[in-house]
Formats: sequence, structure tokens, C-alpha cells
Amino acid sequence: MIGKSRKPKNIKFHNQRLVLSLMRQNAVISASEIAQRINLSITTVVKILAVLQENGLIKSMGKGSSTDEGGKKPELFAINESYKHVIAIYAGPDFIQAAVTDLNCRVISHHNYPYKVPESLEQSMQDIADCARAAMEENGLQPDDICAIPVGFDGIVDTESGIIYYPIHNSGWGRNIPAQEMLERRIPWSQNIVINNGSRYFSYGIFLEHPEYRDKNILTILAATSTGGCLIDHGKLIRGAHGFMGEVGHVIIQPAYRKRRCLCGRYGCFETLVSMEAVREYAAELAGEYGDHPLYSRIMDGEAMHRDLFALADQGDAFARSIVDRLVSVFESLIHNAALLCDPDLVAIGGAFTEGGAYFLEELRARISNQSFFEIGNKLSIVYSALDAEYSIVNINVGAALYAVDEYLRTLEFV
Ligand SMILES: [Zn+2]
Repeated sequence: MIGKSRKPKNIKFHNQRLVLSLMRQNAVISASEIAQRINLSITTVVKILAVLQENGLIKSMGKGSSTDEGGKKPELFAINESYKHVIAIYAGPDFIQAAVTDLNCRVISHHNYPYKVPESLEQSMQDIADCARAAMEENGLQPDDICAIPVGFDGIVDTESGIIYYPIHNSGWGRNIPAQEMLERRIPWSQNIVINNGSRYFSYGIFLEHPEYRDKNILTILAATSTGGCLIDHGKLIRGAHGFMGEVGHVIIQPAYRKRRCLCGRYGCFETLVSMEAVREYAAELAGEYGDHPLYSRIMDGEAMHRDLFALADQGDAFARSIVDRLVSVFESLIHNAALLCDPDLVAIGGAFTEGGAYFLEELRARISNQSFFEIGNKLSIVYSALDAEYSIVNINVGAALYAVDEYLRTLEFV
């Protein structure tokens, strides 16, 4: 062990967490495989498994089919997924969604609830509390069965202070809302309510598909109807001083772009330059050359989606490529600025751009690696994230559940 010495008790909890994190990455696993993978003695691992099993956090799955060196079939273990549950809530602009997941972040149920009086802050917070209780009761759960209630909001949310500084869509709620405190008062049966920005929760879900990304400094860029993102440094969601970190949608890329004002009140924000409305504006500029193109009328009639554009660009269509080139250059500027401000080693692009296709990604990578000053192209990876194209609400809640379970298990210590 390098650095400060560890007390025996801390070593024990540290090892418990190592075993747990390995178990969470594997559906079933044997003691000897755990011992091998994390370099602990088999005796230590067997002891840890016994403690975890005694406490109900893991369960025996019977004997495996393969044999150990000794010729015996090893006992297999798995996380006891119903040890605790998460009620993950996304309080969006139009409705509230409450999802109940197990400890493996599998969604057991999810329901949408309307706001009773959307413009009333007090009533909306009460609605969220009511949803949480309804979700618990519907699944026959008790307060003790719930390890956490993560709640995602849109806008500038500071998880540390529990304040929503700026609820961008729910403008009737005002500003500087002590949402966490308001929810804690209304949900006295849970000690573990944590608010954050919905895009951050959504982005965090990337670790379900890519646990290896936990060793990286990742910038996620999500763009669909709305835009979000976040910075996750070695598995930690970075909030910044006020919760602004990762609000990529409002990074100003082209202040002189005056066709539409952003929801935030400014011009030329990233969000306004990559949306389907922007695509329509880019298409209109090309009307002289491509006005009779079939995609042109579909875009103008509001029937085309990002994916239609990307599919045609991949087929070599010149009109689609001219528009995609505009989108590429907006992404290029954002990533260029991000490299200077937070220097990620991986950029994961999600939302509608998950379906960006080969042309978009190749062009973007080429532009980034051609930036002579930085030559970051060699070091900065740009990938499509596995996060879904619709940027769907239930996946905000799945990411929130993963975040909540990670935090919960990080603090558990069994003696
Ligand atoms: Zn904006």
C-alpha cells in the first residue's frame, strides 16, 4: 500500500467494496474467481462473502457447471437485487415520472403523473412526494426497503446545497428553490433524497454499458429536443461551484446567430444550433440548390428527424452532407472549448446524435485532430454513447438509480 497506512478495519471495508463492485459487474461469480480478479486470498474472500450473505446483500446461486482445480464445482454468488430498492424520480417540464428499480437498476415499474398545478412550487413538490409514496406502495414496499430517492430536475441544479437555482422549463417555480429541503419535509420516511440535474443522472447511466469508463474523465453531450451533458471524472459527477458544470446546451458557439433566441435568453447557444429547428434553418439556406430534394420538403414539413439526415449523409447525399457539416462544425467548436476548459479524455455523444452515423463521427474526429494548435486528436476519443437516441425519461431514472446505488454501497460497512 502506497501512501498513508490503512487501519485494519478500513482495509476490511475497502475489501468489502472491492468484492461488491466486482460482483455488480458479473451476474454470478465464485469466491475463487473474485480472489483471482482482485488479488485477495481465498480465505479473505470467503469471509467477506459470508458477512455479505449474512446481511442479505448477496445470495448463493448454487453450484456452477465448470470445475475448480480441485475438481469440485464452485458455489456461485450474486447480488441480492431485492435487498433494497430505489425510487428514482424525474420531475420534468410537463409531468413527473417515478420509477422503482432493484439494486441492479432493473426497472420494476414506472409511471407518469401529471402536476396538479404546474406553476405552483409548493404543490409540485407535494406532487413529487405523493409520486414517491405511490411508487413505493404500488410495489408493496416499505420505507426500509428504499435505499435512496434521487430526483432529477431540468435547469441549473446544485446537488451539494440541494438548490435549484434556475428551473429552466418550470419558470412558475421561481428561482433559488431549496428543493431538497422541501422534499425532505414532505418525504419524512426517507433519509436519502438527493436532487440533481436530469442530464447528469442520464449521463451517469453510461457506466451500466461501459464500466471501464469509470477510469476516464468523460464529457457527455446529449442532444435531442433539449440538450444536456456533464463531466464525470473517474466516476465522479462534477458539479462545479454552482451546478453549472456540463450545461453544454448553453455554451455560446455563435453569438451572431440571430435566427432564434435560446430559452436561456441568449443567442447562438449550442442547443439552438443543433436542434431540428436549426436543421430547418440550415436547409432553408440551401433552398436555391436543393429546394426540390425530397428531404428538403420533409424537413420543412417537420417530418424529418436527425436520423433521416444522418442516414442520407452516410449514403453520400450532398444535401444531407452540407447540413451535417454545419452540425459537425457546431460540435467541433463545443469540443474545442471543452478541451480548453475541462480537458476530458473521452467525449461521449448521446441523444439523437447517438444515431449520427459514420459520416458525422468521421468528419468530427477529422476536424478535431486537424486542430494544429492542440493536436488533441490523438489523445481525445470521441464515441457515440450507448445512451438511447430518444433521450428517454426512463433512462434518466435508470442513470439516477445507478448513481444512488453506487453512493449507497460506497457508504455501507458490514461488521
Ligand atoms: Zn441558451
